Amino acid sequence: MSTVHAPSPENLARAAAILRAGGLVGMPTETVYGLAASVADPLAIARVFAAKERPLFDPLIVHVARLDPALVDLSAFTAAGRRAVERLVALAWPGPLTLVLPRTAAVPDLAASGLATVAIRAPAHPVAQALIGLAGPLVAPSANRFGRISPTAAEHVAQELGDRVDLTLDGGPCPIGVESTIVAVDPDGSVVLLRPGGMPVEAIVACTGPLSPDRGPVRAPGGLPSHYAPERPVILGDFADFTGEAGALAFSAERAAVAAARGLHPIATPSPTGDPTELATGLFAALRRLDASGCLAIAVEPVPSHDGLWHAIGDRLRRAAAR
Ligand code: AMP
Ligand code: MG
Repeated sequence: MSTVHAPSPENLARAAAILRAGGLVGMPTETVYGLAASVADPLAIARVFAAKERPLFDPLIVHVARLDPALVDLSAFTAAGRRAVERLVALAWPGPLTLVLPRTAAVPDLAASGLATVAIRAPAHPVAQALIGLAGPLVAPSANRFGRISPTAAEHVAQELGDRVDLTLDGGPCPIGVESTIVAVDPDGSVVLLRPGGMPVEAIVACTGPLSPDRGPVRAPGGLPSHYAPERPVILGDFADFTGEAGALAFSAERAAVAAARGLHPIATPSPTGDPTELATGLFAALRRLDASGCLAIAVEPVPSHDGLWHAIGDRLRRAAAR
């Protein structure tokens, strides 16, 4: 039986009851679908890692309604540090920006993979907000098996996780389509980019000033070279260098015509006009369609820019191509 259900008040109440009882819920957010569990339940968090086959060193993002002093400890922050956090929250919440901040003991070690910090954000999707309102703060990594393409529609969650998820709320296709941007804010207010994503870096720089270089060894343990990967190999290169047998992800109708002229098939063109916002929204669904098409490999050209959402799109495609 399908575990995907409309987000009616009854189904929201059911989902909240499942979360309170330690179960797992597929939750729509504006970025991608999350696999939600209660942050207050370490055993439920262990189920999330097991369902995703995710290594325990890769910490989860906690989803909240607001910056919650029960979870985040800013006591060591300077006035400038607090100001940076306040500005970023005012800029982006609710929305696709995750902040890495010192945590309290209320965040289980398992959720934070033993780090002294927690990654936290307030999602903008009304279904996610309703669920958090009913069940409290939720850990919610993307609802896919580890290393695979993130789900941007409820049916993708069912494809990825089957009955490992107790119930998925169908909130429609995710409007942003790539994961959140992650920044760490240090006690002195310096801001370090850990992962490009749905919130353009330019907006963050305009808000808090230039980003600081990353000093630590690996600050985002999940920033692995290979991630977001279809089962077919993704090959980065100019379409002119390919012939037949491969499918293609084209950034515009014009590039799709070039791919077609080289005999590439099928061709996915999430944004015929080459608009990065539209492309991000349709990116993962397009990769899934190509993956399922039976083509030998998926050809992708280098991104034409690193500005705005192109930064996140280029990052995801580079990781999808890494083996
Ligand atoms: P996901 O929820 O699957 O999009 O992945 C969350 C990612 O957030 C992880 O893979 C890490 O890269 C990053 N992350 C989570 N918690 C922390 C933390 N405390 N410090 C640094 N990065 C984190
Ligand atoms: Mg993920």
